[in-house]
Amino acid sequence: MEERPAASTPQIQMRMQRQRRRDTAPEVTLRRALHRRGLRFRVDRSPITGMRRRADIVFGSTRVAVFVDGCFWHGCPLHGTYPTKNAAWWHAKLAANRTRDRDTDARLREAGWTVLRVWEHEEPDMAAAGVAAVVLDRRSRHSREPTRNLGVAPEHTRG
Ligand SMILES: [Zn+2]
Repeated sequence: MEERPAASTPQIQMRMQRQRRRDTAPEVTLRRALHRRGLRFRVDRSPITGMRRRADIVFGSTRVAVFVDGCFWHGCPLHGTYPTKNAAWWHAKLAANRTRDRDTDARLREAGWTVLRVWEHEEPDMAAAGVAAVVLDRRSRHSREPTRNLGVAPEHTRG
């Protein structure tokens, strides 16, 4: 791909600067909403050793990876837009982002992970409720598989 063009407008300049990898406002808000629900997780981790791509929120024991996708960079169907200057470059760039997302999802699913993607525009409490439901479901399945209880005795067998 060609080198990134210079920002042609202040809006695009702002978008480029906002492409921070972690701790964006929607991520922090979602994390707070998950904490309020009593969930614990890791932040900005590669779910799979050796895979360089990071998920924004990782529930390791239940293997649930959550990505908070920015509407612009990940091509939200509601808010995704293309800058008109350097249009060809942007089309290629944003299409490549989406292809990479789908590839990340596929690799994680192959490795037994549940992948959840939340748009940055989603209402945080609703998004947190959806994530929590999946994590709790995975947790309950998990606890029914005795071989997966790695050295931890189930509650009911303790004295
Ligand atoms: Zn959106």
